[in-house]
Amino acid sequence: MNDKNLTLPPYLKPRDGRFGSGPSKIRNEQLSSLTEFSPHIIGTSHRQAPVKNLVKQIQEGLSELFKLPNGYEVILGNGGATSFWDAAAAGLISQQSSHGSYGEFSNKFYEVSKNTPWLEEPTILKAEVGQGINPQDFTPQIINKADTIAWAHNETSTGVSIPVIRHIAEQEALVCIDGTSAAGGVAVDMNQCDVYYFSAQKAFSADGGLWFALINEKAVERIEHIASESPAHRWIPESLSLQLALENSRKNQTYNTPALLTLILIHQQIQWILSQGGLHWSDQRTRTSSSLIYNWAEKSDFCSPFVRDPAYRSQTITTIDFNDNVNAETLAKVLRHNGIVDTEPYRKLGRNQLRIATFPSIEPTDIEALINCIDYIVTNT
Ligand SMILES: *Cc1c(COP(=O)(O)O)cnc(C)c1O
Repeated sequence: MNDKNLTLPPYLKPRDGRFGSGPSKIRNEQLSSLTEFSPHIIGTSHRQAPVKNLVKQIQEGLSELFKLPNGYEVILGNGGATSFWDAAAAGLISQQSSHGSYGEFSNKFYEVSKNTPWLEEPTILKAEVGQGINPQDFTPQIINKADTIAWAHNETSTGVSIPVIRHIAEQEALVCIDGTSAAGGVAVDMNQCDVYYFSAQKAFSADGGLWFALINEKAVERIEHIASESPAHRWIPESLSLQLALENSRKNQTYNTPALLTLILIHQQIQWILSQGGLHWSDQRTRTSSSLIYNWAEKSDFCSPFVRDPAYRSQTITTIDFNDNVNAETLAKVLRHNGIVDTEPYRKLGRNQLRIATFPSIEPTDIEALINCIDYIVTNT
């Protein structure tokens, strides 16, 4: 594979060359709809009815999409899932948390809790990269006194997916799930967790900058209780206050100015998924796309799925290891040279690998085309 300038025959190429894990492909229909929202929403005050109505429609749309049980509500704020970790350390975890750690993102939340001065050392349930944890392994011994149990539905750095299942040992604690690269593309039963939060630029194909969280009454009580004790117990900066996020969300707004374009894009995506049949539909679609890749890789004589156990393979983020005789870095470069982008593996993993997102916005036929392109490059270079 020496020819980095290899040109792929046009008939082989996907119609859209974006396969990144986030920011991810935004559908053309979503983008062109932006003009419909100008000038009455774009460039207008987020404290006035048009934008507040949009926020309300997003909240209702998410409630419908996730079939939220009674008592759950949708809150939102600025800063993405990363800020939500800080907000949770400030206003959701009472004293101690317990974390599933099996890759970069799930481990980051563990690190946040560990570095928060007023929290006790968090407990951890760890798996090697490429492997997953079993929520049933949050035994009372592991959990210790933890009042919040956290793991990621989908570990974006490795393509490992962990089921959202409430285990008996977790009954007292809040189950807090990072849904970032799954939400919108993977079915989930919200009864199985108390908090499900995500950014908008991954499976939801919007843009960065906001976090959304689906929370139940138990989580609301926790947020209100911690806020009522602050600042005597801890100082909660206003921009990280879940209590303020909750109060503002109930008025269909954010504490400070949100990215209006991100709101419009996620609204369009929620409506699109609902119009196609909802989460059940998008779940089927991402299963179809990811199976195309896993089945191909299993049959291939030069690559194989990185996640060995099929039960842990993500349906929205696929990771494929290549044999020594194929240089994945060069492969990604040739693809990029041909307008097929962001198939590089997670930067810190350092494997001979490609990572290919199979979010709902990505057409299964484009996944097929991508596979043909990879085969072509490997055979012709
Ligand atoms: C991308 C990602 C994050 C961080 O999201 P930001 O919007 O960049 O803060 C957190 N968790 C998971 C699982 C992710 O994939």
